[in-house]
Amino acid sequence: MLEHLKEKVCKANLDLVKNGLVLFTWGNVSEIDRGAGYIVIKPSGVSYGHMKPEDMVVVDLEGNVVDGKLRPSSDTPTHIELYKAFPNLGGITHTHSTYATAWAQAGRDIPFYGTTHADYFYGDIPCARSLTQAEVDGDYEKNTGLVIIEKFKGLNPLEVPGVLVKSHGVFAFGKDGAQSVYHATVLEEVAKMATITETVNNKAARADKFLLEKHYQRKHGKNAYYGQK
Ligand code: 13P
Repeated sequence: MLEHLKEKVCKANLDLVKNGLVLFTWGNVSEIDRGAGYIVIKPSGVSYGHMKPEDMVVVDLEGNVVDGKLRPSSDTPTHIELYKAFPNLGGITHTHSTYATAWAQAGRDIPFYGTTHADYFYGDIPCARSLTQAEVDGDYEKNTGLVIIEKFKGLNPLEVPGVLVKSHGVFAFGKDGAQSVYHATVLEEVAKMATITETVNNKAARADKFLLEKHYQRKHGKNAYYGQK
C-alpha cells in the first residue's frame, strides 16, 4: 500500500542523517496523502542504518495503523494534529538538531538576523511554550501538536516553515516530506548563525524589516524573480 510514498518517506528520513540533523534514532519524517487520508511515517526507534521503505508505517488521521508491521513513530499524534490543523501541510520533519534544540531549550524565538533566514522564514522562528504537567501526563504527543498550533495563530506554516518546542526540539514543515527536511536543515543552519551572531555581538539587533520583506518576497512573493523560470 502507498509503496511510492513509502520510498519517498524512507529517503526523506535517511536524508536527516545525510544532512547531519540526527544521531541514533532521533527524529522522524512523515508525508500525507490527502486524497487517501493516510500518513506515511517512520517506525519508532528503528536505526536509520537499517531502515527500508517497507518498514514505513501507514496510519489514518485517527492514528490507526492501516499498513506496516512496525509501530509508528512515537511522535505520530503530533504529526496528526498538525496535518489536521493545517490543510496546506504535506510533510513534517522532527529533529533534535543541536543548535536549533539549544534555542528550544533556552525557550527563545530565533530572531531575524539576516537574509539566510529571510530567504526561507517570513519572520522570527517561533518557540512554542512548555507543556504543563497535565499536558505531559495526559496525551503528551497530541498536546505537543496543540501547543504548536496555539503558537501558530496568525502564522502560515508554509511561510514560517518551522517551529521550536520549549525544552524539546524542532518541527519543520513543507509541501512534502522532502521539503520539510530541507526546511529543517535550513533551520539548523539559521540557528547556528544566530548563536554565533550573539556570540560575536551580544547586543546584535534584528535586521531591518524591509530587508526581510525584500528577501522573502523575491523568492516566494507573487512577483518572485529568484532562480530560473
Ligand atoms: P521515534 O523513533 O519514535 O520517531 O522517536 C524519535 C524522536 O526523536 C522522539 O522525539
